[in-house]
Parts: sequence; C-alpha cells; structure tokens
Amino acid sequence: MAKPKVLSLRQVIIALVLLIVAIVMLTVAIILPQSKHKHQGVVQSLIPSALNLLNPQEHIDALAIQLGEIQARVMRLDALSDRLSTVAGIKDKETEQAVPPPGQGGPEKDGYGLTEEELQQKISELMLELDSKSERLNKLETALVHQSMQRNAIPNMHPVDGAYNSSSYGWRVDPFSGKMAFHEGLDFTSDIGTPIYAAAGGIVISAEQTPDYGKIVKIDHGAGLETRYAHASQLLVKAGDRVEKGQLIAKVGSTGRSTGAHLHFEVRLNGAPLDPRKYLKS
Ligand SMILES: [Zn+2]
Repeated sequence: MAKPKVLSLRQVIIALVLLIVAIVMLTVAIILPQSKHKHQGVVQSLIPSALNLLNPQEHIDALAIQLGEIQARVMRLDALSDRLSTVAGIKDKETEQAVPPPGQGGPEKDGYGLTEEELQQKISELMLELDSKSERLNKLETALVHQSMQRNAIPNMHPVDGAYNSSSYGWRVDPFSGKMAFHEGLDFTSDIGTPIYAAAGGIVISAEQTPDYGKIVKIDHGAGLETRYAHASQLLVKAGDRVEKGQLIAKVGSTGRSTGAHLHFEVRLNGAPLDPRKYLKS
C-alpha cells in the first residue's frame, strides 16, 4: 500500500520543482533583457511572442498570476500531506499547525502590480517553501516505510500448514499433572518433520533445547513482540540469524514435555503470552 503512494508523492514533487524551474527561467528570460534595455539575443528569442507584445509591467503581472496559481497548488499539496499523515496515523508539528487554505476571491480592491524585485522575492520564498514541503514528505515516506516494515513484523503467518487446536490456548487440564493450568500457546498437531515457518520477520533470540519446551526457536520481532516454536525435532536457525516472514526455521517433533508430535506456538508481548489466534490470518 505504502509504496505506490510514496512513488506518486515523489512524482508530484518532481513535477512541482520542474514547474518552478520553468517559471524562474521564464522570469529570467523576460526580465533580464528588459533591464539591459532591450538587448537582442538568444535569451530574448525564447520569450513567447504573445508575451513579447506586453509591456514590462504586464509581463510581471502575468508572471505574478502564474505564481499565485503555483502557490494554490502548493496549498493543495499541503492538504494531500495532511490526509496522508492522517492515513499513516502520524502527527507532526506541521500537521497540527496546518489549517485549511483560506478561501480566496471576492471583489478586487485597488490591486497594485508587483515590481520585478517583489516577484523575485516571492519566487525565492516559494522555493524555500517547496524545500520544506519536500522534507516533510520525505519524513512521511520514512514513516510509511517503517510502518510497512512493522506490518512484516506482525506474526500473522501460520507457522505450519495445517489446523490448530483452537481450544489449546488458555486454561485447560495439563496432560501431565492432570491439574488446571494456563496453556500459553497454540498447539498445531502435525507429523514429525513438518516444516515450521517464521510467523513474521525478525531476529532469532535463541535456538536451543530446554527440558520443558524441548527444541525451541525464539524470534524477536521488535517492539517487545516475540514468537516461540517448541517441541521441534530439528532446529534450522541459530541465535542472531535474521529471518523473513515465512522462512523455514525448524521441523515439527515431540521433544521436551510433549505427549505427541505437534508444534507449540506462542506469541508474547514484553514476555506476557498473547492469544496467537488474534494475530494469525484466517
Ligand atoms: Zn502446547
């Protein structure tokens, strides 16, 4: 979702910058020859013949109108940034300060023509404004990319092909002690050797054998999120490995405190077990 948006934003910025450059070149082409008392040259030949018929002040007025149109477009770009910020759930200072562009129009009061210097000044201001807009959109892009990385870090991919025992998470009778105990994961009954995949991208915290979990892989997904894959017959990753969502990390077994071949899958946030069903795609 984020990528096409980001690309089109870049295109908008590039288009605007090109537009500004074109206007500045046009301004230079028109103003320079006049201040040098109509000197004929290559530059002057670039001036459209329609503009050539106007007097100097009319040239400037025409450019000022174009400048006004560009300013209006920049404002619309602001509105677009605001909407994207909202979609991305990002609040930056600029967003908070942003106010809808004021409505313009009404009867024209004694308007006065801009001078050459004022026009140049306005163009410089607009260039600076565009620089700051570009910077803001870059920040927005970074945030969106970061979000899409985080989406990759949500453990929503089924760790094995096959169904899970949906009553396995929560309070149940422990098959070993016969007492009620809180089962902190979801059990997937599968044959020994069935591939186990990482439910999300992350870094392997450990891949080891413990008395209860048997052969277990723990993956850190950032932001306090962790997944665990227990009772494996074979571990295929080691601590420190970076894994992608869906990467083969181990094979189903019945090691540790297990009554039969199955995968015991846990999702933990800051160490506390979460119901994996809330994350897994249906
Ligand atoms: Zn279990």
